[in-house]
Amino acid sequence: MPLSVLEEVRDELVCYPGAGASIMEISHRDKRFVDLLHEAQATLRQLLGISDDYEVLFLQGGAALQFSMIPANLLRGTGKTAQYLLTGSWGKKAIKEAKKEGDALSIYDAGETNYDRLPAAGDYQVADDAAYLYYCSNETIQGVQFTDEPACPDSVPLVSDASSDFLCRPLDISKYGLLYACAQKNAGPAGVTVAIVRKDLLQRSPADLPGYLNYNNHAEADSEWNTPPTFAIYVLGKIAKWLRDDIGGLDAMLQQNQQKSQTLYQVIDQSNGFYRGHAQTEARSLMNVTFNLPNDDLQASFIAEAAKHDLAALKGHRSVGGIRASIYNAMPVEGVNTLASFMKDFAKANG
Ligand code: PMP
Repeated sequence: MPLSVLEEVRDELVCYPGAGASIMEISHRDKRFVDLLHEAQATLRQLLGISDDYEVLFLQGGAALQFSMIPANLLRGTGKTAQYLLTGSWGKKAIKEAKKEGDALSIYDAGETNYDRLPAAGDYQVADDAAYLYYCSNETIQGVQFTDEPACPDSVPLVSDASSDFLCRPLDISKYGLLYACAQKNAGPAGVTVAIVRKDLLQRSPADLPGYLNYNNHAEADSEWNTPPTFAIYVLGKIAKWLRDDIGGLDAMLQQNQQKSQTLYQVIDQSNGFYRGHAQTEARSLMNVTFNLPNDDLQASFIAEAAKHDLAALKGHRSVGGIRASIYNAMPVEGVNTLASFMKDFAKANG
């Protein structure tokens, strides 16, 4: 979270200006909250250039509920196949849920190389009549990120799990049928998930879906079909404004993110093999820098030593092992520089 946003939230926590109460105490139907919700939607539209052909929905259930909502709305009852590109753990979880809703097929799976790469041209073929093509733009655990949208026929809606790289760079939303992201990486606290849905796709939702699961209900009720996560939406709105006004938009955010990730990848590449990046060079993530040390003992000592320098949360996910430096939008350049110089010192002392 950006420090300036946390400070603003702290200042307004007990009494939201003009409300005489906390934002957590006023009704979600109160005009002051409804205005905040609309403002958050409008700022996201502005940042990403989202046209009126799309709904911007604020949902609950995390990104994980979208693993089910997407096939429930876009696949169930169509008689078609949903096609999935698997470049890491989150894509794998998504297809598992999709299979419960209909015919879901993996057309690319980098599991053999422990998800260290992206598909090259010609590595997969999307059927022209697929229900949709699904991919995860940034695999958080492996640190593998698409630079551009994967090739997809015009007839097939492209669906993206952008949970861990949402708002890290500009996107051309018109290329997508649906793009979603849980907020807790780049867009706010846990509790709200943003789903950007092309309006024509809403016609696919079966009428007998459980109410919460039907995107139409959320679109028609302007994300107030039931009580939305008001506090999370309020903070998300502030982060969107921070990106627009303090950072200067998503082009500027991308520049910072490139600079931050390059700083760490450079240390890895110049370490004479002491640090070994998990992702292949072309697939390296701007958000999650994953790497290994020569052995488990050094890995443990790296984490322990780092903690002494106030460098925390560096342990990689157990499926990949090693180290993961998550450097989301709000991580300051100075934080990354501190880690980079620690890494150089550690390699010098232990290499
Ligand atoms: N997709 C991706 C890419 C993620 O990084 C995560 C969470 N780390 C999820 C899905 C799951 O999100 P949630 O816990 O909000 O369901």
